[in-house]
Amino acid sequence: MTVKEEKYAIIGGGLVGSLMAIFLKRKGIDVVVFERREDLRKSDKDHGRSINLIATSRGIHALKKLSLWEEIKKITVPVFGRMIHSIEEDLTFQPYGKDKNECNYSVSRSKLNEKLISLAEKEGVKFLFNSSLTKCDFSERKYFFINAKGDEECYKLGLVFAADGAGSQCRKILMDHLRVNYAEKFEKNEFYEDIDPLESGYKEFFMPSDESGNYCLDKDSLHIWPRGSYMFMTLANLKGSFTGTLYMPHKSEGGVPNFGDINNKKEARKLFKTKFPDAERLLPHLEEEFMENPTGKLGTVKCYPWYLEDKMILLGDAAHAIVPFFGQGMNCGFEDCAVLDDLMSDNEKNWDSLFGQFIKNRKENADAIADMALENFFEMKNKVGDSSFLLKKQIENLLEKTFPSLYRSRYAIVTYGLIDYKHAFELGKIQKELIDELSEGLDSKEQLNLPRAKKLIEEKITPYTKKHHLSFDF
Ligand SMILES: Cc1cc2nc3c(=O)[nH]c(=O)nc-3n(C[C@H](O)[C@H](O)[C@H](O)COP(=O)(O)OP(=O)(O)OC[C@H]3O[C@@H](n4cnc5c(N)ncnc54)[C@H](O)[C@@H]3O)c2cc1C
Repeated sequence: MTVKEEKYAIIGGGLVGSLMAIFLKRKGIDVVVFERREDLRKSDKDHGRSINLIATSRGIHALKKLSLWEEIKKITVPVFGRMIHSIEEDLTFQPYGKDKNECNYSVSRSKLNEKLISLAEKEGVKFLFNSSLTKCDFSERKYFFINAKGDEECYKLGLVFAADGAGSQCRKILMDHLRVNYAEKFEKNEFYEDIDPLESGYKEFFMPSDESGNYCLDKDSLHIWPRGSYMFMTLANLKGSFTGTLYMPHKSEGGVPNFGDINNKKEARKLFKTKFPDAERLLPHLEEEFMENPTGKLGTVKCYPWYLEDKMILLGDAAHAIVPFFGQGMNCGFEDCAVLDDLMSDNEKNWDSLFGQFIKNRKENADAIADMALENFFEMKNKVGDSSFLLKKQIENLLEKTFPSLYRSRYAIVTYGLIDYKHAFELGKIQKELIDELSEGLDSKEQLNLPRAKKLIEEKITPYTKKHHLSFDF
């Protein structure tokens, strides 16, 4: 077999791989991207799997670093808050930020991926589609791929940036290699791979525009039909339609609706008619979509370390897949690229040491957002409709509006700022205690004693922000 050679490669031309390719190219590094799928721009194979994502500060910051945000923004729809749909069809709007400047951006995952591939190609990055990594021999830096014809190809690759997603083959190969060569570190739990599947999965639905081409729901909102263990959600697309995602347990869980039990068209229509009635009327093809669109899996991946010498580094979901309930998976992956870019600017490219610094920065942040995303999932599941929980949220909102330089919610810190996730996580714990204390004995937010609240914030939150030089000015 002929062995071709490349000095730098990315495995996985998804969101993170395509963006990292542009960062590297801008640093003068010629990189080839190996992508398992065929070229998204020439196929509709992603049909039924392209959920909409929310882009927020961290993802936007990475794009701005490359001066690409204005271009990408054109394929997004700004979203200013959540519209909660009750089973009785009542609507409650909860604004996201403290003002209209704080919004999120809805974008189709596949449209964004296509755009990033095109932008990377424009910069001179070469994509090898239909190239699926199967195995590698680290000692000789040989990587084996299966191409579209099913033939094996071998490449000698200098350094590999592995961005092949949550089910990463690169991670598997890396961990297998480390298990063999560093068995004692695995025994002591210094090295580990922890894959934690979620009991819930997801499925995509399409909500078309009305007959005049207009949006059927308010396009400025993320629409949520929260029902405890399961929920439906829609985000606007560019031309009048919405993409919906149903989150539901895979299997029966105390009698709640689940993908296992709802397995025919009639049951699917009934689920929407009884649980999401105002969405059901806007989903003409829901039966077919329920039956034909795949049910996606969700889960959390934590592993350590993310790299091997100057041979391979894991990025994005390959290193740290998280559940989507904080809307941060892609944003966190894009932040990886921006952080790596900063480190490359500050260092001669001694990759081994650079990756050591990278993982020192990113690992605890990735763990923090993984835990916060899971917390959000359990919060949605267990606390929807809990009046004391809702009162606490209202109190928090009031604190944020009254003392914006002293108090920002964990959601705002994660979504609108660039403060490390690990600090957001720690601040979130202090905030919880503070709000529990302030809300004790209250029936409404109007009863909140604001001078006492300010004093408590200054006693509990300000020392942390001062110690870590954090500012809520974003
Ligand atoms: C339902 C849902 C909602 C989400 N919502 C949000 C959100 O609102 N905001 C947000 O920030 N994130 C969100 N996410 C997370 C986001 O989609 C991921 O974090 C992001 O796609 C990760 O990018 P990635 O490039 O690391 O991996 P991927 O996007 O999965 O890309 C991996 C690429 O590698 C390729 N590949 C895989 N195996 C191989 C192989 N062996 N050889 C070669 N190529 C290979 C794949 O084909 C793919 O193109 C959501 C995820 C889900 C499932």
